[in-house]
Amino acid sequence: MQMQEVDLAIIGAGPAGMAAAISAWESGMEDIMLLERAEYPGGLLHQCIHNGFGLHYFEEDLTGPEYAERFIDRLASSNIKLCLNTMVTNFHPDRSMIAINPQWGEFKVVPKSVVLAMGCREKTRFAIGIPGSRPAGIFTAGLAQKLVNVDGYMPGKEIVVLGSGDIGMIMARRLTLEGAEVKAVVEIMPRVGGLIRNEVQCLHDFDIPLLLQHTITEIYGDYRVEGVKIVQVDGQGNPVRETERRIDCDCLLLSVGLIPENELSLEAGIELDENIGGPVVDEFLQTSLDGVFAAGNVVQVWDLVDNVTLDGEKTGRNAARYVGGELKREPKEIEVIPGDNIATVTPHKIVGTESAELALRVRETIERAEVRVGDFRKKFRVVSPTEVIKIMLEPEYLNLFRKKGEIKVSCCQRGKEDKEEGHD
Ligand SMILES: Cc1cc2nc3c(=O)[nH]c(=O)nc-3n(C[C@H](O)[C@H](O)[C@H](O)COP(=O)(O)OP(=O)(O)OC[C@H]3O[C@@H](n4cnc5c(N)ncnc54)[C@H](O)[C@@H]3O)c2cc1C
Repeated sequence: MQMQEVDLAIIGAGPAGMAAAISAWESGMEDIMLLERAEYPGGLLHQCIHNGFGLHYFEEDLTGPEYAERFIDRLASSNIKLCLNTMVTNFHPDRSMIAINPQWGEFKVVPKSVVLAMGCREKTRFAIGIPGSRPAGIFTAGLAQKLVNVDGYMPGKEIVVLGSGDIGMIMARRLTLEGAEVKAVVEIMPRVGGLIRNEVQCLHDFDIPLLLQHTITEIYGDYRVEGVKIVQVDGQGNPVRETERRIDCDCLLLSVGLIPENELSLEAGIELDENIGGPVVDEFLQTSLDGVFAAGNVVQVWDLVDNVTLDGEKTGRNAARYVGGELKREPKEIEVIPGDNIATVTPHKIVGTESAELALRVRETIERAEVRVGDFRKKFRVVSPTEVIKIMLEPEYLNLFRKKGEIKVSCCQRGKEDKEEGHD
């Protein structure tokens, strides 16, 4: 088997992997291999032909392919080895990996450092257990997005979307624009799962019915979907039987969540966060395996691709520092503990020798909110589970927690006194 030794191997050439490769290159690393199983770099971006990408990073409103192109151009002007049609099939605790492509067949890569940037995958019908028959016409929203935007096929004419994640809402609008009738977007929660801007621009602006606190309890049809049974749910999420009704449709799209893609991480014995499904990382985005970093949706499902790019850049810089012998682990790290109203927080551990940025999501929407990290407080007009909140902590402050070995993060509503003082 052919063997390649490199300074850095990156698995996945989506926005996270491309940013990692470019920043490692710009940090002086020369021997970088970017392995991508698809025939194009860019990850999911090439199927996201709507706008709304890059508003923060470029301060421009770009489509997914336009956003990707900016990084593809920068890759092309470097000596980074971009291996397309290349699937990494195995990853080992000594950081070596096995990959396969049509050019070299199966080959081994032995890198000094690694960035995991495999992204995430969509939950399917079986992850949420909808009973009923198994006819044609049931798709995840992302697959339908690829069929319509890349391959030019319509998945159906009368559509019901289950789940109001961003991909589901974007596809409801897309299919409407392509002439389908979207009969409903059905969401079990009392609020949409995706960004508010997508609720407004994709559903309300196109008069697409949004049924909050509803779910689907049965799928009808033998060969092709003929309809779904929908039902209202109570405060505990239990179906209220008297409200059951049928909606006729020939296509059901599922937008019910994304799962970080970590089979390779598991194989290498990397510690995963059971709640999020991604690797446990420190503020340098280094995983439990020395010299292995992780960026983008493989760590946690981000709200905006701009954040994924920043994550990728961080891992590229840190991989270069690791190979240069500059990045050392501290014997005692500070554990980050999610407290009240915190759904997820990364990094999980902080070395604390440099500034560290926390990225967190809350469980519930709160107006006039305050995020607390130890005694540090940051005020927000409103916090919502759909948006990632970032908080930067300085090493002098982190030092105060070194002895205790942990720092707690929580989010609550601010007291009345703040309102009277006019904070917001
Ligand atoms: C179906 C879907 C649709 C989306 N649509 C939108 C949208 O409309 N708007 C929006 O803002 N965000 C959207 N997102 C979120 C968007 O994917 C992320 O913001 C961003 O693409 C994440 O970047 P990433 O690099 O972490 O992962 P990805 O973009 O998923 O890139 C991961 C890359 O890794 C490659 N890979 C994985 N495993 C291997 C392996 N073993 N070997 C080689 N290569 C591998 C994959 O082929 C892929 O190219 C969508 C996500 C999904 C899953």
